[in-house]
Amino acid sequence: MEQVIVTIFLALFALQFAIEFGLNELNLRQVAISAAQKAIPDAFRGKIDAQDYAKSVDYTLTNGRFHRWSEIYGSTILLLVLLSGSLGVVDQWAGQWAESSALGRYGQGIIFCCAVAVIFTVTGLPTELYSTFGIEAKFGFNKTTLGLYFSDKIKGLILSLVIGVPFLLVVLWLMEIMGSTWWLWAFAFISLFQLLMIVIFPTFIAPWFNKFEPLKEGELRERILALAEQIGFQTSGIYSMDGSKRSAHSNAYFTGIGKAKRIVLFDTLIEQMTTTQGLAVLAHEMGHYKMKHIRRMLLVQTVFLFAGLYILSLLVAYPPFFAAFGLAPSNHGALVLFTLVSGPFTFYLAPLMNRLSRKHEYEADRFAALTLRDGKPMEEALINLTVKNLSNLTPHPWYSAYHYSHPTAVERIEAIRRLAAFS
Ligand SMILES: [Zn+2]
Repeated sequence: MEQVIVTIFLALFALQFAIEFGLNELNLRQVAISAAQKAIPDAFRGKIDAQDYAKSVDYTLTNGRFHRWSEIYGSTILLLVLLSGSLGVVDQWAGQWAESSALGRYGQGIIFCCAVAVIFTVTGLPTELYSTFGIEAKFGFNKTTLGLYFSDKIKGLILSLVIGVPFLLVVLWLMEIMGSTWWLWAFAFISLFQLLMIVIFPTFIAPWFNKFEPLKEGELRERILALAEQIGFQTSGIYSMDGSKRSAHSNAYFTGIGKAKRIVLFDTLIEQMTTTQGLAVLAHEMGHYKMKHIRRMLLVQTVFLFAGLYILSLLVAYPPFFAAFGLAPSNHGALVLFTLVSGPFTFYLAPLMNRLSRKHEYEADRFAALTLRDGKPMEEALINLTVKNLSNLTPHPWYSAYHYSHPTAVERIEAIRRLAAFS
């Protein structure tokens, strides 16, 4: 049976790899062909000069070519960890350590999970470092220093220890004492935990990494206050963030629920946009709030969590699942193994989630255009963002359908124009 499990896993893994790799190749080819024909989409004609366009093509191609190697590298590491029997060795070592320090079975579980996390964090460093200090730096985006990069890593580590370890302990404890219905209890616990994180993340965790300040006095702020009043958005929730500390990329996002909700504008975005464009971006973010997009996304994720935990409850009671990857059956082993092998299965959910997310983006754009009674500012903001971030103007449609959480700027602009045509 172990052989069958490994074979099925490898077949699905190979399929995922082929799709992922193939989509990237398609996208690279599409961009190269468009560049050779100078096929700038209509919406961008006259809005992007030849030099910026060439730079955006170069940026996309550089990232895509690097993605080939990072994909091969990451897949090799994962297969090595899963198939070499090293998980079993790490688990035994964690068991001995826990025993000699009188930490018991939960101690073994925590040590094992941490050790696996360390393996993937450390092996992931080379690609991450090259991407940040090689590619991003070459194109003038990177503002992170090595010091800041590693201080971020250390803060992340502290967070995992302070929040992740207690979280893991509770899950392991529920698995141990709740019998066959443990997964329902775990579902309730994890759902509540997620809600708690959504509330505490913007107010307690994010400020540890970035400075958040209420938007500065000025015309933009005045007009935003008026807009917020019109829409009914609590105005104390609009912040500017020092994104320029790490990267010249610009962005804006809406996060949190209830009183913890926030709209965050990167300082880089405020700097590069006109007041009217900035206002359009804000109207878009308020659209996410008004249409309860966070809640809808959360609901879908909760359904996935429920299904995932149910499947895990079947696997944890099925010894061949462990034997296939060289592990002795245990609750912590099931958690880690499930996380590591689920990729080839959950891979197909990503485009569905992205599709839902893209639907939300169209809705928020529509909301912005209707609220401002003009689609032009949103269009201009999108063009501005796309050009400054060197975003790919001509992604392959399959690639963007699979990977993009936002529709392309061209798709969004066309949707806004259609809206104007009907109103
Ligand atoms: Zn959005």
